[in-house]
Amino acid sequence: MTDKNNSQPVAFVTGAARGIGLAIANWFLAHDYRVALIDIDSATLAKTASELNTERALTLVCDISKPEQVQQAVDQVVTKFGRIDALINNAGVAVFKPITETTFEEFRYVLGTNLDGAFLCSQACIPVMRQGGKGGAIVNIASISGLRASTLRVAYGTSKAALLHLTKQQAVELGTEGIRSNAVCPGPVDTEMAKLVHSVAIRSDYYDAIPMNRYATTEEIANAVGFLCSENAAFINGQFLAVDGGFDASGVGIP
Ligand code: NAD
Repeated sequence: MTDKNNSQPVAFVTGAARGIGLAIANWFLAHDYRVALIDIDSATLAKTASELNTERALTLVCDISKPEQVQQAVDQVVTKFGRIDALINNAGVAVFKPITETTFEEFRYVLGTNLDGAFLCSQACIPVMRQGGKGGAIVNIASISGLRASTLRVAYGTSKAALLHLTKQQAVELGTEGIRSNAVCPGPVDTEMAKLVHSVAIRSDYYDAIPMNRYATTEEIANAVGFLCSENAAFINGQFLAVDGGFDASGVGIP
């Protein structure tokens, strides 16, 4: 069933089957958007779809590192919803290893998802935003690891630093058309990804290093994304917003 004449805005959220992406999708649903939830993990996405159980959510299985799959997903969103107002490049993967232990395949896997994926989704969504004629908002989910270097982050940190520069490039190129591009840089957030790459020792070091002595919730990241997409942020373009309990400001090294 198509919903093309509906004037409700549409958000395209990648990596939305779980974690931060799901919290972002929920923020948009709670603020009367229709939402395309994009993810490579079909099983988790199906479970999420049945839990959301709303006509305003469209779930699409897609590997964002593959140009043809991204274009197909965007085409399906346009067919179903007729517009895209907000793009949230959230899907990401992490490999935490030193440079000499990181294989080229691992490096390409991280860059392919975190950077190529954001590039491809932006490239496919921007023409749809342009057609709408009302501008739009792009938010790239980077990381504190993109703002500063540390051990074990050669692939992850490099991908996030490049994503921050992509944010600025897009802000400069698209600002004249009213399409704003900003980034959110989370510190540690309680998700499956954090469980995968943060050992118990790293977790405890993080608690000591973060002035507010805890990890963020996924909702706290989603609130920042929602703000950047809202009219309240109408003149904010090309900026990086750290949501990290003061971790970056403290200057304490990343464990
Ligand atoms: P997560 O692993 O819980 O969720 C990531 C989602 O992205 C998963 O559902 C996964 O299936 C999906 N995904 C992975 N590769 C994909 C691909 N090629 N195509 C489509 N979907 C794909 O992770 P999270 O913690 O929710 O992280 C979300 C974002 O936040 C990531 O970009 C991550 O780098 C960033 N981030 C997370 C933390 C943290 O501590 N959790 C900190 C800083 C930044």
